Amino acid sequence: MRRSLSRFIPSTDVERWSERVVVVRGLNPGPFTGPGTNTYLVGTGRDPILIDTGSGISAYPELLRETLRSEFGCDAPSQILITHAHPDHLGGVRSLWENFGPLEVAKRPWPARDQGHALNPIDEGASIQVDGASLTVLHCPGHAEDHLCFLLEEEQAVFTGDNVLGYGTTVIPIQGGDMGDYLRSLERLRKLSLHRIYPGHGPLVDDPHARLDAYIQHRLERESQILDALAAGVASVLQIVERIYIDVDRSLYGAASQSVLSHLRKLRAENRVAPMLDSGGETQWRLL
Ligand SMILES: [Zn+2]
Repeated sequence: MRRSLSRFIPSTDVERWSERVVVVRGLNPGPFTGPGTNTYLVGTGRDPILIDTGSGISAYPELLRETLRSEFGCDAPSQILITHAHPDHLGGVRSLWENFGPLEVAKRPWPARDQGHALNPIDEGASIQVDGASLTVLHCPGHAEDHLCFLLEEEQAVFTGDNVLGYGTTVIPIQGGDMGDYLRSLERLRKLSLHRIYPGHGPLVDDPHARLDAYIQHRLERESQILDALAAGVASVLQIVERIYIDVDRSLYGAASQSVLSHLRKLRAENRVAPMLDSGGETQWRLL
């Protein structure tokens, strides 16, 4: 006898992480999403906010509805906040509208990536209140130019989207990413008095300052490895990736290449490196 699919979803797809925060996985695990995107229901009453929507996996709305009923005693979130327009965060909006009606969706506009959705624009400094939760909006670009983080005042906690993950490090994409902005965003989060981080993917981070220090350190180490590579005459992005990402599977070289190029662009903006085309039309980088 078959029962509904949701009964077979392992319980780790929904976890209560505090009296006002429940994580619901987007059911979209993969090489770039780890165990899937974390979506969050936030609040203590019957009007929780949903942060992020996953990538539009068909079983997700039912999992969300069951969680709303069992954890909040309601049938729909009061509104949706989006950290950034990447498809594993914004991609579930359409199916949520189909399942829950025309919920308000708020994010920082990025017209080129907002998939034509009618969205409510929010930005730095905005505040959002529901029962038991006050969120302040922080614009933290770097992983994506529209990236917002949401500071949960009651817990001195922050929903970091893909700026800080529960495991590993994030990609700084060539399109819309910026390594200099990313480091500034990490420094900004580091200055806040934080007790925990609710990441966009992976487990809860309960040592935010140590994690942010490690993230900043990691990028600075990569930068010095890239400078060392250039000093040794290693000049193309792929050669640099092969030299410094020795512990990374080749299937992730595309993402690693984007991060290396983002480092090189930051160094170029600082007048420390310059690109040049070789005779085969490939870009080679050199120290200035
Ligand atoms: Zn993501």
